[in-house]
Amino acid sequence: MRIKTYLLILLSFFCIGAQGLKDKITFSEVKVVDNGTPRKLKIYSISRGFDTYYHLKGFCSAYDIIFSYVPVKKRILLNRGTSSLRLTVGAEPKLKDCYIFSDKKYFLSAEGLNYILAGLMKGSVKADKKNKTLVISYETAKKPVETVKNKANGTGQAAGPSRIFRAIPVFKGEKFKVERIVIDAGHGGKDPGAVSKDGLQEKQLTLEIALETARMIKENLKKEVILTRSKDEYISLQERTAIANKNKGDIFVAIHINATTDREARGTEVYIYNTEPTDRKSGGIALRENMEYIKAGGIRSILGELGSKSNDYLSILLAGNILDNMAGYANVEIRNKNSILRAPFYVIANANMPAVLLEVAFITNPEEERKLRNSEFKSNVARAITHGIEDFINSTSAPEQEVAPVAAAKAPEEEKKQDNKDQ
Ligand SMILES: [Zn+2]
Repeated sequence: MRIKTYLLILLSFFCIGAQGLKDKITFSEVKVVDNGTPRKLKIYSISRGFDTYYHLKGFCSAYDIIFSYVPVKKRILLNRGTSSLRLTVGAEPKLKDCYIFSDKKYFLSAEGLNYILAGLMKGSVKADKKNKTLVISYETAKKPVETVKNKANGTGQAAGPSRIFRAIPVFKGEKFKVERIVIDAGHGGKDPGAVSKDGLQEKQLTLEIALETARMIKENLKKEVILTRSKDEYISLQERTAIANKNKGDIFVAIHINATTDREARGTEVYIYNTEPTDRKSGGIALRENMEYIKAGGIRSILGELGSKSNDYLSILLAGNILDNMAGYANVEIRNKNSILRAPFYVIANANMPAVLLEVAFITNPEEERKLRNSEFKSNVARAITHGIEDFINSTSAPEQEVAPVAAAKAPEEEKKQDNKDQ
């Protein structure tokens, strides 16, 4: 009898709950105060109870945050500038009570968005419920994407210097097909690259990792691989990019081993091309890797004239996915946690495709030198590169794909149950 009563109460609670959970998604203008300036974001949102949840993908595009989703892993990868943030959909402890799935979209409350902005932009998001406004602040000179038209808002209640709100358009993903992957083993032949105290040479290690990566890509991803070198031979930096461009590579991955006079320096770094290095250290590394080009008569200033690449967005995405997979291996230590670095490397500057350069561990660090001699470490690095490329392919080949908690379209009730399970 008691049990029956309990069941009845439970059932009625479920019914009320289910009723309340029938969310209506609206595509409307959300008022924000952006570092003191009132704006409007044109974005999907859901109201549930006293809270509003905002479409993460739309929010990201308004703030120049690159959003990518790797369906197999249910992983959302967010990149902005050199910062990146990884979220596992439905399993992110910090976002446990801050999200809603609906219509294959991932919505976050103000608290959830606060977590995103804190991680990527040293920023914060607060909900001003009285004025139905999101108060957003962040540390950067970069403004969100500018809007097309200004629109006076008669009912705007937000505190701010003006009542002009600007709508921010929603970004549409890019579709990108990968058939040929260029793997570039740094140095070779007369150019040994960095050399350890015990005589271990960078050129040998980069070749081993490159060959292993090529094998894994062909076997697991069934893609064509172009190696700029497959034996111990000298190839100039110009020739490397020429090989990549002539063969119409779709993505370019250069593999190097790091070195410095500081014997304590350790960890793996992932770089994309930029005329301005992230910091002095990154600039120094680029200078070392470009040295062979500079010695051969190349002028340093040419590097500065290349400008930023049009495929920056895809390079960041590729770098982020490789970094994400690197972080998955306990013995592959990431030097700059969650950061993609930028530096003016000649070889990725001139490759006519999304390109990243890896500085795998430090040959000058005694412990990492031991790791570099270990074949398991090298094959983990190769595996991380391969999976990173695979995730990149998955996240760029189907831009229309939204975050999906379930494999196929199901009835709303069923989908809701699945969502609950995911929590
Ligand atoms: Zn190198």
